[in-house]
Amino acid sequence: MNTFYMPTKILSGENVVLEKAQELAVLGQKAMIITGRASSRLNGSLRDMEEALSRIYIDYVIFDEVEQNPSLETMMRAAELGKKEDVDFLVGVGGGSPLDAAKFVGVLMKNPELSGPEVFERKNLQSIPIVAVPTTSGTGSEVTQYAVITLHEEKTKKNYGQTIFPTLAFHDPKYTLDLPLSVTINTAVDALSHLVEGYLNRNANLLSDTIAEMGMRIWGQCVDPLLTAKLDGQVREKLMVASTLGGILIAQTGTSLPHGMGYALTFNKGVPHGLANGVIYVEYLRSFKNKAKVSKLPELLGIKDYESFEEVLGRLTIVDSITVTDEEIRDYSLGVFENKAKLANHPEEVTYEDIYKIYRDSLR
Ligand code: NAP
Ligand code: FE
Repeated sequence: MNTFYMPTKILSGENVVLEKAQELAVLGQKAMIITGRASSRLNGSLRDMEEALSRIYIDYVIFDEVEQNPSLETMMRAAELGKKEDVDFLVGVGGGSPLDAAKFVGVLMKNPELSGPEVFERKNLQSIPIVAVPTTSGTGSEVTQYAVITLHEEKTKKNYGQTIFPTLAFHDPKYTLDLPLSVTINTAVDALSHLVEGYLNRNANLLSDTIAEMGMRIWGQCVDPLLTAKLDGQVREKLMVASTLGGILIAQTGTSLPHGMGYALTFNKGVPHGLANGVIYVEYLRSFKNKAKVSKLPELLGIKDYESFEEVLGRLTIVDSITVTDEEIRDYSLGVFENKAKLANHPEEVTYEDIYKIYRDSLR
């Protein structure tokens, strides 16, 4: 039995935030914009959202302290501000970090009696309305129910376990035009990893595979531009669509092993999220015993053969200068092996040794 659920209304096109400002009017009287420290001011997304809210006479405050891989502590501070300012809805503007932050803060504001850690223990919590304006093309967070938060006390990143989809998402690829090459590649690899992990997933079905295959075909058209840094508006648009399809897909299937494995590299070694998944991809794909779907990937991506596909993956996932000891690899492997949710999405039986081998062969 399969369910398909993705209730976010997506509005897309050039200047869509201003053109469709009216869509925000029903969400409340006062908003809090949740964003990162700098980039949304530089790429115009914050200015557009401020202008959109002003045009329809919605008052707003800005919380602009969301760091990469947002922490629970930052979420609590943002929620305090939102409560003090009595805001009705939240607008996440930025990459996956501010978008995830908006969802988590929305839950804290709707449930003021809960402490931050309690959100992870409870089920079916509601949120105040969330609007998402992505400025990276990677996470698809604007169309997923997930929010991945850094828990310093637990020394890891964790999904909060709630099902909060943004009410509205505004897609304007112009905000990504000046995304630095490294962030463009890392986030594009994240999008690819969603498409592949949703495809090679125990929850995959004909409908989800159709989305995955379509997403990979679009992503595949961006391979040369990514390798040669020729990233014009059309490529930016394709990357955003591929990222959104990846989000819609994992909203149904969940992610799988590489996402579970990448968190340790991000938390302990500071490797950006997309790259942290991507760096183990070649070995992850080699670990499959049943190659039926794995062997289709090059064709879906428009790459001539499997060897060239591995070469592309290698060229897009270069990590400079991290050292990981064998003891650390054993520690990470154990953490992943105990993450039963991620293991359950992997379509084959997987042992601790399998995970250890993927890490070891990827990181040596
Ligand atoms: P990010 O952490 O949101 O942002 C990375 C960097 O890119 C930041 O320095 C940010 O600057 C900058 N940036 C963002 N947009 C920019 C633009 N248009 N131009 C120039 N710089 C820009 O990166 P992300 O990869 O999008 O998100 C990663 C997070 O999302 C991770 O925490 C990951 O676990 C999570 N995630 C969530 C889902 C989901 O379904 N919810 C899926 C995958 C990953 P500022 O800090 O100044 O804004
Ligand atoms: Fe991801």
